[in-house]
Amino acid sequence: MSEQPTEFNVWARPKEGSLARAVQWTREKWKLSLAEAMSRVNDSKKTGWVLLHERCGWLDVPALVKSLPDFVEPGSAAVTEYELGYSPAGCNAYCATHGLHFLRGSRAPDAPCPVCAGWYIDTVQNGMAYRLTRHDGDGGDA
Ligand SMILES: [Zn+2]
Repeated sequence: MSEQPTEFNVWARPKEGSLARAVQWTREKWKLSLAEAMSRVNDSKKTGWVLLHERCGWLDVPALVKSLPDFVEPGSAAVTEYELGYSPAGCNAYCATHGLHFLRGSRAPDAPCPVCAGWYIDTVQNGMAYRLTRHDGDGGDA
């Protein structure tokens, strides 16, 4: 299995009564049909988390967490590793140092968080993922 450096997803808790706004935002953000957007927002009602940003670099995360859209609870953002796409509710481990929800056991049973492990993408610009901290000769292609 080829191990790609981790990218990150940003989630937040939708506000009560924000359904229509959440659907509109989700539709525009992900370029979905109305039905697809409603399905995704319904899923987020079940898990309690709505996906705001996908496949971000670790250095991109702080700005995204600070500027949340109006239909989520202020300060409710949570960050997960992108791989497998689990919401914070679906992750089984949390690194308090990095504020990162992740899946322990997706690599090794006692694996630390990907940021602790140093195996992650720093920034994603125009769909290209860059690692600034370590270079392994892969040309940086995503
Ligand atoms: Zn960590």
